[in-house]
Amino acid sequence: MYRENARTDSEHRVGKLFVLSGPSGAGKGTLRERALADIPGLVYSVSCTTRQPRPGEIDGREYRFITHEQFRAWIAEGRFLEYAHVHDDMYGTLKADVLRELDAGRSVLLEIDVQGALQVREKMPEAVLVFVDVPSVEELERRLRGRHTESESALQVRLANALKELALKDEYDHIIVNDELASACEQLRRIITQ
Ligand code: ADP
Ligand code: 5GP
Repeated sequence: MYRENARTDSEHRVGKLFVLSGPSGAGKGTLRERALADIPGLVYSVSCTTRQPRPGEIDGREYRFITHEQFRAWIAEGRFLEYAHVHDDMYGTLKADVLRELDAGRSVLLEIDVQGALQVREKMPEAVLVFVDVPSVEELERRLRGRHTESESALQVRLANALKELALKDEYDHIIVNDELASACEQLRRIITQ
């Protein structure tokens, strides 16, 4: 159980929770890496997923790659702060990972989809929700194709889901339009450090 009282006790400083969402290809991963490199005391919570690793991805670094069976067992045990079915796979954030860092005084960045972000808001209303938007859907498709990480069918799933994600952006505390990368990075840095 998250220690709500500890967070409001000014003598017991604990970290803040930031949630980054947005359509696949918007630049969340790019912004996240910059923020982690630039902001001391900010850590990333590695999610669990049932999807297969992409070439170059390492278990425990990009994700914890787990089986559907393991994922279901952890849901039943109540181990996820949030979880969702995204692009044909399950993704989730372990509660213990986040609470350990917050209680140690570090701020935590989650990069999760909109369904997960809204679950986090329910459970931890003090979390700061940041949506990464793109200048246009055409630019989103260009970026996704330029990344060369998805098959054509996986890319189509991501583009279809992008429209659903974009429809929920007004639920967020902040919207960053990732047009010029340096400016978007600076906006995120300000939100996290303000
Ligand atoms: P996401 O994590 O949201 O799926 P990525 O961070 O992987 O998105 O970015 C998708 C692609 O777009 C990558 O190839 C990345 O280098 C590129 N990209 C990110 N930000 C910008 C930007 N501001 N302008 C142009 N290309 C960008
Ligand atoms: P990818 O497979 O491209 O790495 O990620 C696909 C989508 O899953 C992205 O929108 C990403 O934000 C989301 N995602 C990654 N980890 C989590 C998580 O722990 N929970 C939820 N709800 N979504 C996640």
